[in-house]
Amino acid sequence: MTERTRKVTVVGGGITGLSAAFYLQRQARERGIRLELTLIEAAHRLGGKIQTVRRDGFIVERGPDSFLARKAGMRDLVKGLGLENELVRSAAGQTYVLSGEELHPVPGGSILGVPRDFSPFLSSGLLSWSGKVRAAAELMLPKPAPEADESVGAFFRRRFGGELVDNLIEPLLAGIYAGDIDRLSLESTFPQFRRLEQEHRSLLYGIRKSSMMTGPQPLNPGEGIYQTFRGGLDTVVRALEEALVSQGAAILKGVRAERCETERETMNLTLNDGSVLQSDGIILAVPHFMAKKLFKPHGFLEELDDMPFATVATVSVAFREEDVDQHLEGTGFVVSRNTDTAVTACTWTHRKWPHSAPEGHTLFRAYVGRRGNEMIVDISDSEISKAVLEDLRKTMDIRGEPEFVIVSRFPNAMPQYPVGHKDRVAEAKAELQRKFPGVELAGSSYGGIGLPDCAEQGKTAAAALLERL
Ligand SMILES: Cc1cc2nc3c(=O)[nH]c(=O)nc-3n(C[C@H](O)[C@H](O)[C@H](O)COP(=O)(O)OP(=O)(O)OC[C@H]3O[C@@H](n4cnc5c(N)ncnc54)[C@H](O)[C@@H]3O)c2cc1C
Repeated sequence: MTERTRKVTVVGGGITGLSAAFYLQRQARERGIRLELTLIEAAHRLGGKIQTVRRDGFIVERGPDSFLARKAGMRDLVKGLGLENELVRSAAGQTYVLSGEELHPVPGGSILGVPRDFSPFLSSGLLSWSGKVRAAAELMLPKPAPEADESVGAFFRRRFGGELVDNLIEPLLAGIYAGDIDRLSLESTFPQFRRLEQEHRSLLYGIRKSSMMTGPQPLNPGEGIYQTFRGGLDTVVRALEEALVSQGAAILKGVRAERCETERETMNLTLNDGSVLQSDGIILAVPHFMAKKLFKPHGFLEELDDMPFATVATVSVAFREEDVDQHLEGTGFVVSRNTDTAVTACTWTHRKWPHSAPEGHTLFRAYVGRRGNEMIVDISDSEISKAVLEDLRKTMDIRGEPEFVIVSRFPNAMPQYPVGHKDRVAEAKAELQRKFPGVELAGSSYGGIGLPDCAEQGKTAAAALLERL
């Protein structure tokens, strides 16, 4: 008897959905399962938040620009697609914290603000002497009993005192989540720090002993911890699309899933054109609030309702090299909360990613908006550009006008995992699967917002779904 073909649908064509679809095909092939795969994407393009613009020799990333090289999620995907030779590493360079009107270097050797080597901290202008003494006292603190989840802010304040957190750790970590570290869950955002504390008692001690934060390979001199593709981040999106189509997947763009119902073993997805797509299994790789809408009458996923989403924008600004007098070496700055700027962080992109700007030109990428301060992204492009240029002028001498400015808005883009998030996700998934056993949830609302975490979730969801089918 020949085995029945399984119909599987992936909803959402961002990195999570693309990764899920890629691994569904691959794992089904390996296991001899016949698969009819459909990917549905509401926009007319794939990639979700990954959006690369090529213009006048520049490569501009509107959304994410790179991914952490040490994490397996993207590394495995890149390898599976045979794209290793397209990768470039970020240039290592000094990062600064803008505090008041002054750019202070982040002390050398720190990882996300946690010192690996204390001597550069001693000369840092970011901390008072009492702040330095309090931070160094971390070495002597006892290991606490393993506790339930706590906020990122509470954890680091407990270990290092308020000054190091407010002046260094907060600007660096909050930049990644565009959020308030006193509300963000440690377990769901930076669990590696919690593990360091449990394994080594002191973070200052543990961070020197462990490769947890840097990855298995030591960095070559001049190399940073991030990777992207020399042709732009959407290289991976195009390669995934090609791979999926070549293996027979149907990709429907400009089509939105609106409702999900179950009928015996089959699931019916109602699409925005009124048609109904039947599937044996579904992976929902869309934000939580969208997944929730699909099951509206059932009230699933309400456990996650108190998770806020930050709205952010990126503003990329190009100049001729001679129009900018950038006296500092380095790759960019983050902004401390006590500083009155629209910009929350800025990458000196032409330095961090030399392939992104043609010879003789500079490219800066400013981030605007964070949870609790999102008005800035509701004002017009020209007002945002003006505010960003004013802020950039505080940090360097700009004489001419920009060659171009690209403003990109991302409404409700950055989920803010509250304390206890992991348990609530587990509950929500379990409840959903009792009624819809053929549905998997994956993506930035659940198990990590970085591209590697999203790619990994896609892979895990694919394996779990095939197992169940
Ligand atoms: C400005 C910015 C900068 C970032 N920088 C980085 C970075 O440098 N490195 C990093 O690792 N991460 C970064 N991130 C985070 C990372 O980009 C995201 O977490 C990740 O791309 C999310 O991928 P996803 O596939 O889960 O969701 P998305 O990319 O949001 O994809 C979801 C897709 O689902 C589609 N969709 C939604 N509803 C439906 C529906 N009903 N039917 C069909 N389709 C639907 C959407 O159109 C979308 O294409 C950044 C995020 C932002 C906003």
